[in-house]
Amino acid sequence: MAKKPYEFDTRFSDVEQGLQAREDGIKPIRFKVCSKCGETKLLSKFATERRNSDGKMAICKSCRIIEARLYYYKNKQRILARYKIYRATHLRERKTYSRIYQEKNREKLSKLASEWYQKNKEAIKKRNLKYYEENREACNQRRKLWIENNKEKIREYNREYKKLRK
Ligand SMILES: [Zn+2]
Repeated sequence: MAKKPYEFDTRFSDVEQGLQAREDGIKPIRFKVCSKCGETKLLSKFATERRNSDGKMAICKSCRIIEARLYYYKNKQRILARYKIYRATHLRERKTYSRIYQEKNREKLSKLASEWYQKNKEAIKKRNLKYYEENREACNQRRKLWIENNKEKIREYNREYKKLRK
């Protein structure tokens, strides 16, 4: 009969459980002392670090999470500033990435957009109307300018429209 993997019981410390596992004849369990909290913990509670002789980091996973969090809070300004610079200096890569993403997901994105529009149609109409009421003068001017710039297009459209009505 195949041996079941050893099940760890959180009521006991790693050391107690390791000793118990060894008594039960289950594969030898390895430990390591965390250089931060000083606790003896199962090797599996340390993240992999190939450069170390035992292949594990010197501090345990829990301590590592705490350290990462502390590092972030202490260096928040610097990290955010670096990220801002990254965003600014990688504009082209980011644009290329987003273009490729859009091309790959065109159908999904257009479906999402039309679903969003259908869901928010009334709110969008209301917002546009409100904008028009508040900016009537600017809107009318823009409209006039658009007509001026698209005379040919409008004429063509009207021709097609008349043809259809005949
Ligand atoms: Zn630790």
